[in-house]
Amino acid sequence: MEASFVAMYKEMGISEEVLSFGEEILQGLKQRFEEIDRIAEYNQLKVVHAMQKNRVSEACLHPSTGYGYDDLGRDTLEKVYADCFGAEDALVRPQIACGTHALGVALAANLRPGDELLSPVGKPYDTLEEVIGIRPSRGSLAEYGITYAQVDLLEDGSFDWEGIRNAINDRTKLITIQRSKGYQTRPTLSVDRIGELIAFCKSIKPDVICMVDNCYGEFVEDKEPVQVGADLMVGSLIKNPGGGLAPIGGYICGKKEYVENAAFRLTTPGLGKEVGASLGVNQAFYQGFFLAPTVTASALKGAIFAANVYEKLGFAVVPNGTESRHDIIQAVTLGSPEGVIAFCRGIQAAAPVDSYVTPEPWAMPGYDADVIMAAGAFVQGSSIELSADGPIKPPYAVYFQGGLTWQHAKLGILMSLQKMKEAGLVDL
Ligand SMILES: *Cc1c(COP(=O)(O)O)cnc(C)c1O
Repeated sequence: MEASFVAMYKEMGISEEVLSFGEEILQGLKQRFEEIDRIAEYNQLKVVHAMQKNRVSEACLHPSTGYGYDDLGRDTLEKVYADCFGAEDALVRPQIACGTHALGVALAANLRPGDELLSPVGKPYDTLEEVIGIRPSRGSLAEYGITYAQVDLLEDGSFDWEGIRNAINDRTKLITIQRSKGYQTRPTLSVDRIGELIAFCKSIKPDVICMVDNCYGEFVEDKEPVQVGADLMVGSLIKNPGGGLAPIGGYICGKKEYVENAAFRLTTPGLGKEVGASLGVNQAFYQGFFLAPTVTASALKGAIFAANVYEKLGFAVVPNGTESRHDIIQAVTLGSPEGVIAFCRGIQAAAPVDSYVTPEPWAMPGYDADVIMAAGAFVQGSSIELSADGPIKPPYAVYFQGGLTWQHAKLGILMSLQKMKEAGLVDL
C-alpha cells in the first residue's frame, strides 16, 4: 500500500491496523464485485432504454406548480418507471412522503371494509404495524374493518406452504410480501422466490392482489418482482430508485387498475393522477433514477465488505459473507448496546455532512424500542446514503446500508471498525 494512501486514512482517523485488516478482506472479494458491476451494467441499460423509449426531453425536467395539470415531466417519468420495471402503470410522486406512506396508500386504496390482508412472510416492517392496526392506531386499516392475517416463515427461512394455503380464504383480497428483511434477521427474498410464492397464492386464489414491498430491493437483481407476477410493487425514492438525488418521494407501480386506485387514494376519487405539481423535483427524479443502478451497486459492495469484515471477527451477519444478495441491507449482530452504539458512531464519523455529531438512541415515531441512527446525509434520513441504524433491543443487531459511492461505503465500514476497536469490543 502506498504511503500517501495510508497517511490519508490515518489523517481521517483510521489506523494502519484497521486499514490492512480491511485490505486483506477486499482481496477475496474481487470476483463478487465484478458480478455486481455486471448487474449494474444491465440495469443501466434498462433505465436508459426506458428513458429513450419514452422520449424523455429537456422539457421533462422543468417544474410545474399549482394543480400540476399536464405535467409532462411527471407523466413521462411514470411511463419510464413502468417500462423499466415491467409494469403497466406507475405512480411516482413527491406527494408520497416516504415508503410507509406509499405502502399505506397502496393498501388503503385496494382494500375495502370486510376484506382481509395476508402477510405470508411473517411480521411486516415496524412502521406498517400501525398502518395495518397490528399495533392500534388512529385511521388504521383495522379501524376500517379490514382484518389482517399472518403466516410466519418456517425456522429455516422457507415458506410455510400449508399454513399459507390454510390462511387464504374468501375474504383474502390482498397479499403483501416484503422482499427485504427490514429490522429482522430472516433472509431477504430473491425475486425468484417471490415469483414462486405469488404463483402458489394465485393457484389457490387467482384474483388475489399480490403486492411486494420492494424497499431496498430495486436494481439489486436484473429483474424486479412485477416481472415475476406481482400486481403491485411499492418503494421509496429516498432509497435505491432515487439514486441519492431524489429529495422526497415514493412509487407504486403494477397493474393499471390497482395503480389508479392508489392515485384516487393519494389525491382524491375522480382527480387521481391528473393533479399533483412536481414543484421542481423532476430533474432530481430523472437523474437519480439514471444513477440508481450504479449507486445500488456501490451500496451492495459496501454491504458485502461489511459482512466479510464482521464475519471474520466472529459476529453473526445476515446475509453471510458469501450468500447471494437481494437487498442492500446488512445486519450485523453486535450482541450489546455498546456495540450498536460504537458501530453507528463510526458510520456517522465517516459522513460528508454532520460528521462531528454523536448519534444517541431515541424514541422514534413508529418504532417500539429506542433506535440509534447514524446518517450524515445530503437528504435527511436517506438510507441509500451511507447509514446505519439499530433498535436498542436484543439481539442488538445493527442494520447497515447505503453508500452513494463504494469508496465512501468502505471508509464508513473501516471507521465503524475503528470505533469498535477503540471501545475495546474487537480484537484484530
Ligand atoms: C424503509 C422501509 C419501509 C418504510 O419506508 P420509509 O421510507 O422509512 O417510510 C418499508 N418497508 C421496508 C422493507 C423498508 O425497508
